[in-house]
Amino acid sequence: MPVSVRNTPAAEWDKNTWPPLEDLARNQPESGVWFQGTEIHNRKKDLGTATATWFADLLSPDPWFKSLFSDFKEIPKSDLKEGVDNATSFTSVCINTAIYLPWLVSQCLKNGVVFKRAILKHIADAASPGVHHSGQAADLILNCTGLASHKLGGVEDKLMYPARGQIVLVRNEADKMYSISGTDDGSEEVMYIMTRAAGGGTVLGGCYQKGNWESQHDPSLAIRIMKRCVDMCPKLTNGKGIEHLDVVRHGVGLRPCREGGARIEKEKVNGIWVVVSNLLSVLNTANRSHNSTTMAMLAQDIKALMDVHRRQSNWSKRR
Ligand SMILES: Cc1cc2nc3c(=O)[nH]c(=O)nc-3n(C[C@H](O)[C@H](O)[C@H](O)COP(=O)(O)OP(=O)(O)OC[C@H]3O[C@@H](n4cnc5c(N)ncnc54)[C@H](O)[C@@H]3O)c2cc1C
Repeated sequence: MPVSVRNTPAAEWDKNTWPPLEDLARNQPESGVWFQGTEIHNRKKDLGTATATWFADLLSPDPWFKSLFSDFKEIPKSDLKEGVDNATSFTSVCINTAIYLPWLVSQCLKNGVVFKRAILKHIADAASPGVHHSGQAADLILNCTGLASHKLGGVEDKLMYPARGQIVLVRNEADKMYSISGTDDGSEEVMYIMTRAAGGGTVLGGCYQKGNWESQHDPSLAIRIMKRCVDMCPKLTNGKGIEHLDVVRHGVGLRPCREGGARIEKEKVNGIWVVVSNLLSVLNTANRSHNSTTMAMLAQDIKALMDVHRRQSNWSKRR
């Protein structure tokens, strides 16, 4: 679901990310990306709330991404539930990240990437001799540590903050992806439904709790999430109650966000060049975000910055 805002770099990243995602869904099912019908519902009364602000363009009957989807349309008012003022539908993609991330690792391995695993206390430690597989010190570090950039030595970006999300993963399936501008359970609570490819179950969400670092799931929020989702999509339980949801697990995650938006720049830390790309779940001051599906083209901007570095320095070609 494209949540970027018109005329922002994030919208440009989203626009350019769509063709590769579409290609994966069409031609590479082993990536865990598949097409899903999508319905976005809007209630005017949510205007100005955290969720409606986050989803601002997504909720519009005329969003910037309208022309990307050939089947984009407004849902007739007569088909909408009471209380919903307008809604749109289009075919997007849903990523089963449990498949997609290992698939990305495989693509990297195929292309000669060498993986090593370590916990670093300071970003410059990534250039210590012995960390790079060549045995030499690295000349360039790419920092993509997400929310950890808040605390990581040499970075300590205090503009970073979490937007806590909570989900329920169920075995039940929905016919489409759904979301709505708000809920009646508080401005930070959200409703979304995403059925994942290859038997990955359905993700029921959620919430968007800015500044909340709590890692444990809240059982009463989980009940509200399940109720809202079954209410939006009764097919999940064949018209029955939430006790007919077959729960796989509850999940909590902290979206990496940053006041002022993404920071993609090059800086020297302890004499080592670091390309900063923290973060990948970006908020601007108006509380608008983009997310991991935006990343293919954000990564291209990062690569461009690294290429400039390579040209400007005599970057040794290490294998
Ligand atoms: C509940 C929830 C729902 C979401 N839903 C969606 C969605 O539907 N669509 C979407 O596109 N996005 C969604 N997101 C957002 C998405 O998950 C994030 O945008 C994305 O994971 C950010 O990726 P990243 O690589 O920047 O950061 P991360 O995934 O946080 O990766 C950072 C990496 O850095 C490593 N690291 C950190 N510190 C150190 C250190 N000191 N030393 C070594 N390694 C370190 C970590 O181990 C980690 O591997 C959701 C997030 C949440 C929480």
